[in-house]
Amino acid sequence: MENLIELDKKHFIHPTSSIQQQQEKGAKVIFEQGEGIYLTDKNGNAYIDAMSSLWNVNIGHGRKELAEAAAKQMEKLAFSSAFSTFSHEPAIKLAEKIASIAPGHLNAVFFTSGGSESNDSAIKLVRHYWRIQDQPNRRKIISLKRGYHGVAAGSTSATGIPEFWGMAGHMMTDFTHAESPYESSTEQAIASLRQVIEADGAEKVAAVLVEPVQGAGGVLIPPDDYLQEVKNVCEEYGVLFILDEVITGFGRTGKMFGMENWGVVPDMITFAKGVTSGYFPLGGVVVSDHIHEVLKEKSKGTLFHGFTYSGHPAAAAVGLRNIEIIEQENLVENSRKMGSFMLEGFRKLKGNLDIVGEVRAVGLLGAVELVQDPVTNKHFSPDLQVAAQVIEALHERGVICRAVSYGDSDIICFAPPIIIDENQVNTMLEKLHDSILTVQKQLGVA
Ligand code: PLP
Repeated sequence: MENLIELDKKHFIHPTSSIQQQQEKGAKVIFEQGEGIYLTDKNGNAYIDAMSSLWNVNIGHGRKELAEAAAKQMEKLAFSSAFSTFSHEPAIKLAEKIASIAPGHLNAVFFTSGGSESNDSAIKLVRHYWRIQDQPNRRKIISLKRGYHGVAAGSTSATGIPEFWGMAGHMMTDFTHAESPYESSTEQAIASLRQVIEADGAEKVAAVLVEPVQGAGGVLIPPDDYLQEVKNVCEEYGVLFILDEVITGFGRTGKMFGMENWGVVPDMITFAKGVTSGYFPLGGVVVSDHIHEVLKEKSKGTLFHGFTYSGHPAAAAVGLRNIEIIEQENLVENSRKMGSFMLEGFRKLKGNLDIVGEVRAVGLLGAVELVQDPVTNKHFSPDLQVAAQVIEALHERGVICRAVSYGDSDIICFAPPIIIDENQVNTMLEKLHDSILTVQKQLGVA
């Protein structure tokens, strides 16, 4: 263990981490095994994985069926090209499966290895769509403040959390951000969207890209009419509409896709994470029949966009098996039911604890806000790092969770595996209660 920590410090640059802190303290947890909703570390400590790791291990850990699907495919054909006129059965079958479960006219799939690549692919595809229709000036991508779309060049620029732009020095041009409906109302957010579209003229806008629920921004669930209004505005200005379903896809929100909660079907969706429950890196873009037709009819020559691993056979085999399990075990329905149960539990916590503010969930995607005064919604000073303290207290009680501290808000996010049962939700909630109570006492609130 000691040796591993030293080697980790010396050789492993952790993604999204404080490299300084890692150097000083080393890895806090080295995970060894996973089973259901639990993770176990090298010292034998078990944790509830209340975030499905990175919002992705939807069907839970340790599913032998997925390991078998990967092994079987790897023994037969671990990899072959899908470039140009080559293809293979797993990618064809997964594309067909995703087309069959995606609503409406979303029927053709371009594969990637993750969410960032998916959003960058969508951005290039929409610009290409306009270019081949003699509208090359339609380049602008409009997304939302507090939105998160990944860390590749385009997806970072579309991300509406400025900290993410810093590393590259600046964001790319032709990206702009409208107000999120969370801090305002649907009317204000839509007025902001219109204003951003009109700023340089709608004829310069390629697409609007939003998450159905802003995940990394703090599980911000939109007002019921918001997504339909965005779609209406896109139609009015003749702009394409892309939904980033990277977190919200594959059962997370109590529907197969997040958009189904609001009955809205865009021109394109991006997906990743839950498509394989994290057992293999895989993502993609699903485009509408109309866009697919335009691409087929008007693209001249090669579509110069494709990753070596676009449609990786083993990844696709795992994705197929994962979706089969979600369907066979009614996990979308379980996510809906357990999500309501979790939300009810959050509401009880709000009744019993002094520092719980707004609580929310759609399916098993939820959040608990911590505030100094729930009546006025006064936030704690960011210096207190209240959400981080609660995360630490949860950790000590064997729950791995995630804090979002955006501005002065303290948000604890929840996205447990969608196989979770009532007893396990209760255990998670009890530990949350104890953790918040402890921090509340430390703060001198009760
Ligand atoms: N889009 C959303 C909504 C996400 O939450 C994420 C990752 O958290 C991404 C895109 C980027 O996905 P990846 O980390 O697989 O590149």
